[in-house]
Amino acid sequence: MESAKFAGLRQPPPDSGTSMYELVERLYPLCRSITGDGVRQTLQIVSQSIPLEIHEVPTGTPVYDWTIPREWNIRDAYIADSTGRRLVDFGRSSLHVVSYSVPVRARLSLQDLRPRLHVHPQHADWVPYRTSYYNESWGFCLSQNQLAELRDEEYEVVIDASLEPGSLTYGEFVVPGAGPKEVLFFTHICHPALCNDNLSGIAVLSHLAKCLVGTAPRYTYRFVFAPGTIGSIAWLARNEGRLDRIEHGLVVALVGDRGGFTYKRTRSGEARIDKVVEHVLRHGRESWEVQAFSPYGYDERQFGSPGLRLPVGRLTRTPNGAYPEYHSSADDLALVTAEKLDASLATCLAIVSVLEGDQCLVNTSPNGEPQLGRRGLYRKVGGHHASDNREMALLWVLNQADGSRTLLDIADRAGLSFWDVAAAASDLWECGLLKTHDGERLRAAARGGA
Ligand code: ZN
Repeated sequence: MESAKFAGLRQPPPDSGTSMYELVERLYPLCRSITGDGVRQTLQIVSQSIPLEIHEVPTGTPVYDWTIPREWNIRDAYIADSTGRRLVDFGRSSLHVVSYSVPVRARLSLQDLRPRLHVHPQHADWVPYRTSYYNESWGFCLSQNQLAELRDEEYEVVIDASLEPGSLTYGEFVVPGAGPKEVLFFTHICHPALCNDNLSGIAVLSHLAKCLVGTAPRYTYRFVFAPGTIGSIAWLARNEGRLDRIEHGLVVALVGDRGGFTYKRTRSGEARIDKVVEHVLRHGRESWEVQAFSPYGYDERQFGSPGLRLPVGRLTRTPNGAYPEYHSSADDLALVTAEKLDASLATCLAIVSVLEGDQCLVNTSPNGEPQLGRRGLYRKVGGHHASDNREMALLWVLNQADGSRTLLDIADRAGLSFWDVAAAASDLWECGLLKTHDGERLRAAARGGA
């Protein structure tokens, strides 16, 4: 039997939470957008722990119905009064400028400037996050309190930005597996100073990738770090010929806040990844809920577009738009915690562990219950201990392993955790009571506790 190499996989390495939080802290000040140097710097920092392959897709490249836009970079921006005092300053937060603003250098009255100013509708001291990707515009975001300070005078308004031919940048990291089938993990990287909405996803997926290095998995694991929408569309268009390798996929984002998990199902709602994630959440420690697919949200809607129909679900904690700090300056370093990042990583590891360990086995002694005592398994099911999960799992596996169900199917049918069922299968395999259809070895399921 193959050694249980994924045995320890469900438990993140010590200090993972701290390490992920530190990565969020480090990436927080960078001004990311859908293109530009902030994205490159972000990917370079991620590359220090997992060596990403960086792809540059030139401006003007058609990607399905879209075209790669000009590259946006920004050096400085401010609104200053007549004394030169900066009342709104990009140097203090990259959220202060509407992302993709065209360059501006002007003197404007408050009346003329006012339509360009965006405030948070509810919270007086929060700065909203706004973008203007696909129509040429400019603007500033500020708090209601800052707006209240502006007097009816002339202001110097500067956005020292460039919008020029360049490229869209994304990063990819692959953990090669035994076969050609792939598991895709995707996260968006286009948001500026927002912690839960995009830095948490970057932190968890980069650490997940690192955990898988050297495990020689069954699947090939492909991690894509790309800007939202245009990034996933560009990746899909450039990989169209090999999309049929993707057996399972997950968009991971918003995984550092204090909320429980939300899983958004794939377009069909019946993909294997739906069953796997829901099983892991059901047997996890945190609250969770499931959403049906909808063509709104993050990049799952690109993977689930009708021409592609890839089995890609989405894992978040509190979903987009469902927490007050969403898309505002309050999505900051206080909103995410090392503990929640760590628990999100553990959940991703558990998902991988099920994907790796699940398989279809056949009872070699299917006529009547095999005599377990003779094989040293009797005490594991003896009488009054039979309610123990592991012992029940032996009986369930023997009864259900008829070649039509996988271990995960059996676990769901029995109401047991996958790992109890996989451990029972491993015991039965060692006694010769299970076989595979095709002489394949027993998959290393994650053993060792539920
Ligand atoms: Zn967002």
